[in-house]
Amino acid sequence: MKKSKTKNRTKKEVRKTNKKTELDEKVDKSIKFQKIPNEKKEKIEEVVRELVGEEAIPIVLYLIGKTKVSEFIIANDLNLEIHKARNLMYKLFEQNILTFIRKKDKIKGWYICYWDFNEKSIPFLYEKIKQNKLKRLKERLEKESSSTFYLCKNACTRMDFEKAMEFNFKCPECGELMNEQNNQRTIEFLQQRIKELTS
Ligand SMILES: [Zn+2]
Repeated sequence: MKKSKTKNRTKKEVRKTNKKTELDEKVDKSIKFQKIPNEKKEKIEEVVRELVGEEAIPIVLYLIGKTKVSEFIIANDLNLEIHKARNLMYKLFEQNILTFIRKKDKIKGWYICYWDFNEKSIPFLYEKIKQNKLKRLKERLEKESSSTFYLCKNACTRMDFEKAMEFNFKCPECGELMNEQNNQRTIEFLQQRIKELTS
């Protein structure tokens, strides 16, 4: 058993299994997270990862099934520093993944943000990310299919025919001769990825 880093963590929370990632552990450790179908969860995770980053995922998963949660409660439940939590939540807001309302706290006299997960944005954002990926893959495939590539013997540089000609087929890094590269496997790989994304 590892010793807890922070005093207020329970023993149960710090128990670890090697197979699990830190994120899984956070998700499993309490009933703060509502169970949702895996497929749905994966979509949410991919959208958040692509648009904001891995570390914002627990916030979104935590807000599933909840409404108007105080920023302080979110930060506390997820063991996040309040400024860190706010920063991530504003980034999620900019991507339309979260929404919030501000209310003045009657006792303390300051404003507190209450957050909601804007779940209906996910299918749209997921599709947008997929289309962007497809576009990039297709552009790359087009380039790989229409040019001949030259690779330095020492693998410092790789360039297309026009560029290689400018350098007289000599590597600008080490001066070695550059050879034509068979990029069939790259092409096949790109075709496969495109097929996966369109199926
Ligand atoms: Zn070289």
